[in-house]
Amino acid sequence: FLSQMLNITANALKNPAKEAIVAGEESYNYQALIDASRAFAHQLLETSDDLKETRVAFMVSPSFDYVRVQWGIWLAGGVAAPLCITYPLPSLQYVIEDTQAEIVVVGPEYAALLKDWVLEKGLRFIVLSEEKEANGSPAGLPTLEKSRRAMILYTSGTTSLPKGVVTTHANLEAQISTLIKSWKWSENDHIVCVLPLHHVHGIINVVSCALWSGATVQFLPSFSAEALFELFLAGKVNLFMAVPTIYFKLISYWEGLPAERQQEITEALSKFRLMVSGSAALPVTVMEKWKTISTHTLLERYGMTEIGMGISNPYDGERKAGYIGKPLAGVKVRLVDDEGNEVKGRAAGEIQIKGNNVFLEYWRRPEATQKAFTEDGWFKTGDVAVKEKGYYRILGRDSIDIIKSGGYKISALEIEEVLRTHPAIKDCSVIGIPNEEWGELVVAAIITDGVAVDLKELNTWIREKMPAYKTPRQYKIVDDFPRNAMGKVTKNDLKPLFL
Ligand code: ATP
Ligand code: MG
Repeated sequence: FLSQMLNITANALKNPAKEAIVAGEESYNYQALIDASRAFAHQLLETSDDLKETRVAFMVSPSFDYVRVQWGIWLAGGVAAPLCITYPLPSLQYVIEDTQAEIVVVGPEYAALLKDWVLEKGLRFIVLSEEKEANGSPAGLPTLEKSRRAMILYTSGTTSLPKGVVTTHANLEAQISTLIKSWKWSENDHIVCVLPLHHVHGIINVVSCALWSGATVQFLPSFSAEALFELFLAGKVNLFMAVPTIYFKLISYWEGLPAERQQEITEALSKFRLMVSGSAALPVTVMEKWKTISTHTLLERYGMTEIGMGISNPYDGERKAGYIGKPLAGVKVRLVDDEGNEVKGRAAGEIQIKGNNVFLEYWRRPEATQKAFTEDGWFKTGDVAVKEKGYYRILGRDSIDIIKSGGYKISALEIEEVLRTHPAIKDCSVIGIPNEEWGELVVAAIITDGVAVDLKELNTWIREKMPAYKTPRQYKIVDDFPRNAMGKVTKNDLKPLFL
């Protein structure tokens, strides 16, 4: 029956008795996972023998259930559309309608929220606790080509309304296999997942890489620094991946612990194999602090919903602070200027990507898809970078982080890095606001370290560090920044503060 199975399930079955998923007190081996996934596929296939790319939206907390539903959809030939479990009803409706899902699957805790609307729309509604018994046999499941659509994930919505990104099974395979190779995943790995499972970071980098390698993935019901450190101290976890905000929170929590406890944590973390950061720029200050706490040099990588991961610092070899690293195996990268020519030397340019990892299309947005690719098939990321000694350094998104002021193009990320080295500044976010004379003006929102900041002094301080045209014209002190589900700062929401 191997030919009927997707690679991910085929690889996972090499060692059926091995522990695949841990969630709370429960543990499931690979055989249990495959059986449950097949059973769910059969349930989906009640009235047909192949879902033929029918979209199945599912709202399930990170758990064994999440994976069996996702794999079940794939085995039945459907397109998996995971929903964000913290979305309010209107956002869920947007995704379900936009994907044109015909089946909606929910964990019991979400049934009340969606039931009436889903049934009113005439969609099939499956509540996980009310399932019928189905057999776990591979017989009767469709044979799938790798070119088939597998998943629709929505972008984080950092710059505008989230777009549905369609990936095929071949895309997923490329995204997963390059990471497994580059980051040396093995069945001995045990990773804890604290990320949401409607974005690439959690689905691909953590869960799929783990299960494809025959490793173990452990789910924490929700993020808490205390629970996470507790788990780290238990000694089983050897891999960790998170966004910079999570490292930020872990650092703050650790700093408040008694010295003895701090030492225990450092010892436990020093035994880890690898720790990765991505999804947003990793502040150098966070990287340095985390090194003193964990003894690890965080591996920073760069990716997108549209490409999975594209550029990564090396597993072996130098991991450079402030850099996203080098192209992953199988991923082609080039930097292109405004005229569409590849840049020379150390000039800045847009990152463009080619490879089997690159998505198929924006769902039902043919114009957006067309606009996103060059005539010769390179995907235009909209992110600007420079290449220095083979390592790429991100300057930011062309649409938000590259501030066009007085004829200059200024990188917000560079200014943020400098501001964060000020002793009174805990974090900051730099943006451009419209200005008649200059085009845009550089301004900064800052979170202080609890001490009062003299803004005049701050201005003098920063002018000694960088050219005047790059320095913020206005500062606002805030308690926190507006963020999306991924913890990324939604800079467009910061603008009204300065207008
Ligand atoms: P939207 O496309 O809806 O505006 P989004 O771009 O934030 O949202 P994602 O696909 O989740 O949606 O995020 C990809 C983006 O995240 C990249 O284009 C890049 O701007 C940013 N990013 C990812 N990794 C890094 C990194 N290591 N350093 C800096 N930026 C990063
Ligand atoms: Mg994007």
